[in-house]
Amino acid sequence: MALDEMFSNKGEQLRACYDALMKKCDSHLEKMHQELPLPQDKWNEALISRGVSRRDFLKWCSIMTAALTLPPAFTPKVAQAAEMASRIPVVWLNLSECTGCTEALLRSSYPNIDDLILDTISLEYHETLMVASGHQAEECLNEALEKFAGQFVCVIEGAIPLGMNGKYLTIGARGKTGYEIAKEVASKAAMVISIGSCSSFGNIPAARPNPTQARGIGDALKIPTVNIAGCPPNATNFVGTLLHYILFGALPALDRLGRPLWAYGKRIHDFCERRPHYDAGEFVEEWGDEYAKRGFCLYKVGCKGPYTYANCSQVRFNQGSSWPVMAGHGCMGCTEPGFWDRMAPLEKPMADHAPLPLAGVEATADEIGIGLAAVTLAGIGVHAVGSVLRGVGKEKGGEE
Ligand code: SF4
Ligand code: SF4
Repeated sequence: MALDEMFSNKGEQLRACYDALMKKCDSHLEKMHQELPLPQDKWNEALISRGVSRRDFLKWCSIMTAALTLPPAFTPKVAQAAEMASRIPVVWLNLSECTGCTEALLRSSYPNIDDLILDTISLEYHETLMVASGHQAEECLNEALEKFAGQFVCVIEGAIPLGMNGKYLTIGARGKTGYEIAKEVASKAAMVISIGSCSSFGNIPAARPNPTQARGIGDALKIPTVNIAGCPPNATNFVGTLLHYILFGALPALDRLGRPLWAYGKRIHDFCERRPHYDAGEFVEEWGDEYAKRGFCLYKVGCKGPYTYANCSQVRFNQGSSWPVMAGHGCMGCTEPGFWDRMAPLEKPMADHAPLPLAGVEATADEIGIGLAAVTLAGIGVHAVGSVLRGVGKEKGGEE
C-alpha cells in the first residue's frame, strides 16, 4: 500500500473514532441531563458574579479540551460539561490525612473557573465542610447513598489504615472503621477518585515504619481508582477528571499507577523552564548562591523533577501564577508512590541516596528517567489509541 494511501486511511479511521466519541459524548450528556437533579446555580450568573466573561470561559474550555487530548470540535461539549458540573453528586470521605487536599482545592482568594466548578459541585457529604455532625451527618451520608446510588462520584481523601482490623481510624458513634465506610461508599459509586497522594498511594500516613499499616484506596479496597496524585494535588487535574466523567461517563485513560495520562503523562524535568541550565551543566550549588539568583537548575539541591510525572509546570498553582521550581525550590516528587520515603531527604539529589546504584548526576537522571519513561511511553502508546477510543471502553471500573 502506498504511504499516502496509508495515511489517508489512518485519517479516515481517526475521523470515525472521533465521530463515535462525539456520539458517546452527546448521549452521556443527554443521559445526565435527564437523570440528575436540576442545577443549584445559574451558571451564567455565577460567571458574572466572579467577573468571568463568556469569552474567558470559552477560552478556558478550549484549554481544557486540549489538555484532555480532545480535538477543538469538543470545546462546546466541554463548556456544556462544565455547566453541568453543579449536577454531579459528590460524596467526599476524609480518612487518614491532613485535610490539605480539601484546603488546597476548595480555598482560593482569587477564584478562577476551576474554583467555580469546585464551588458548584453538589457536595452531598463532606465531613470537613458540612454543617451537620454526629448522627445527622451519618443520616446525610445514608440519604446520599440511597438517593444517588450508582450516580455519585466518590472522592476519598486520605489513606486507609488496615492495622488492628482498621481500628486506627473509626468514624461516628457506631465506631465504623475507615475501611468499612470506604468499602460501602465506593461499592455504590459511579466512580472512585483518590484525591491526593495519601489516598492514591499511602503517602505520609504510610511512611516508614507505617505502624497503622496505612494503604492507598485502590490497594486497600482492591478496586480501580482514578488517582489524582499530589501533596496536595492540583485543582485543574481534579476538575479535568470530573469533566471527563461528565462528557463520557468513563474513566480517562490512566497510566499504570492509575493517574490520568492527560495530567500525569509527562515528566516534570522535560517541561521545566530551568531545563536549558540542566543541559548546560549549570546548577545551584547551595541555597542563596549566585547561581540560585540566576535561576540555574536545582538538581544538586534536591530537585526530583527527573523522576516525577505531573503537569505542574504547565498548569501551575495559585491561579496559574507559579509552581515550586519557579518559586526557587526543587520538585519534591509528591505525585510518585512512596514519595515521602523514596524522595527523602528532599534537599539532596537522588544520586546521594544510598540504595540507588548510580554514579553521578547525569547517570541518575538518565538511568531513572529512562526506566520511568519507558513505562510511561508504553502508557502513552496505549493512550494515543485510547484517547480516540475512550468512551467506547469500560463504562467504569477500569482503564479503557
Ligand atoms: S496528600 Fe498531602 S495534602 Fe493531601 S491529605 Fe495527604 S498529606 Fe495532606
Ligand atoms: S532537575 Fe529540576 S530544576 Fe533542573 S531542569 Fe530538571 S526539573 Fe528543572
